[in-house]
Order: sequence, then structure tokens, then C-alpha cells
Amino acid sequence: MKNIIFIAPPAAGKGTISDYLVKNYQYEHISTGDLLREEIASGSEFGQKLDVILKSGSLVDDETVIRLVNHKITSLSHQAFILDGFPRTLGQAKVLDEMFRELNIHNNVVIYLSVDLDTVLKRVTARVICPKCKRSYNLNNEKLKPIHKDTCDDCGYALIRRDDDNEETFKVRYESFIKNTKPILDFYQDKGMLKEIDATLPLEVIYDRIENEAKND
Ligand code: ADP
Repeated sequence: MKNIIFIAPPAAGKGTISDYLVKNYQYEHISTGDLLREEIASGSEFGQKLDVILKSGSLVDDETVIRLVNHKITSLSHQAFILDGFPRTLGQAKVLDEMFRELNIHNNVVIYLSVDLDTVLKRVTARVICPKCKRSYNLNNEKLKPIHKDTCDDCGYALIRRDDDNEETFKVRYESFIKNTKPILDFYQDKGMLKEIDATLPLEVIYDRIENEAKND
């Protein structure tokens, strides 16, 4: 399978789709949001600074996220990976391009999950996540609900709501997506790497389309 780079507004479903791909195709899931939340959970001084930024809904500086992603990608063995939440700025996209060239990584597809503001707003306010395994659930969706209310199906941990999953912070994140992240679409379109999938379709249809796009030629 090809490496997948997801571009999408917050709460479009990148995490849920990534879980499916990890389980079925052994992808390595690289989520910059998860990496940043791990640093925050460590209680380090740097983590405390990140916590303030994530709670506000703003973006973390390019240098920090690039360092995290570079470290992850260079430590991978041979399996295909998913980039979830990176790149989020044109600057990050250009550095990623350079990274791919240096590491001789060419088997990539960029998938844009398009979805309207109303839908993502509904999804974000119904999202709970497992702090241990990072699986995410949606309390309003029969297929994405946990089996036992409040606990993770996979590891039994108590589910939590993310600090930034509230309406006010979500609006900042969504605006940042429009301003900083949407311009990346043209960058990848020009390179012929971009595929768009409607993220409001039923999950099985989305999975099927992604499998088709990510299959090796
Ligand atoms: P979602 O899945 O809802 O889009 P993420 O978990 O990917 O949210 O990201 C949560 C927060 O982490 C972002 O709002 C931002 O503050 C920070 N973040 C994640 N990825 C990046 C990135 N590539 N560049 C800058 N900040 C990032």
C-alpha cells in the first residue's frame, strides 16, 4: 500500500479511518496531534507550553512539528505510514517534500477528506477518545459508539473528551484550516498527488475508496 497523507478539517474522520487502516493493513499511524498530546501528558515544561497552544486551537510552530514528524519517519522500518495532521501549512508541505526526496520515499497519495462545517461541528462535540490507545469514538454514531458507555472497547480505559473539542476552540481550528491548510491542496494538485473523498459518505464507502486510492499501481 502507498503512504497516505490526509488533509482534512478537524474532526473530519482522519483518526477513525486511520484506526481502520492500521487494523487491516498494518499501517504506521503518525498523528501530530497525538504526538503533541503525549508530550503534554509527560508533564514536561515544553509540554506545558504546548498545552496552552492546543487549548487555544492555534497551530504549534512549524519547527516543532517538523522535528516530531522527521524523528518518526526516519525511525520507521519498511511499513507504509499514514500522516494525520501533517502537513498543516504550506511551509510544512514543502519541508515534507524535501524529507521525502532525501529519504527516497516516493510511494505517496494525498487524500483530501472534504466535509462541511455543520457536519464536523456535530462530530467534534460528540467525540470521546481513549487516552491510552488513542482510539476515537462518536457518541452520536451507532457504528462508532463504544460498546460499554465511557470505556474503551480495546483497552478498557475510561474515555475522555479532548480539551479542544468544544465549540469555541473548534471554530479557531476550523478557521485555521481554511486559512493555513486549504492552500496546501493546490500544492498537491499541481504535483498530481491529490485525491478527494467526500467524508460525509458512509464509512464503508470511504474505506473502499481509500483502499482503491492507496493500492500500489
Ligand atoms: P484534529 O484531528 O481534530 O484535526 P489534531 O489532533 O490533529 O486535531 O490536532 C490537535 C492540535 O494539535 C491542533 O489544533 C494544533 O494545535 C496542533 N497540531 C497538530 N498538528 C499540527 C501541525 N501539523 N502543525 C501545527 N500544529 C499542529
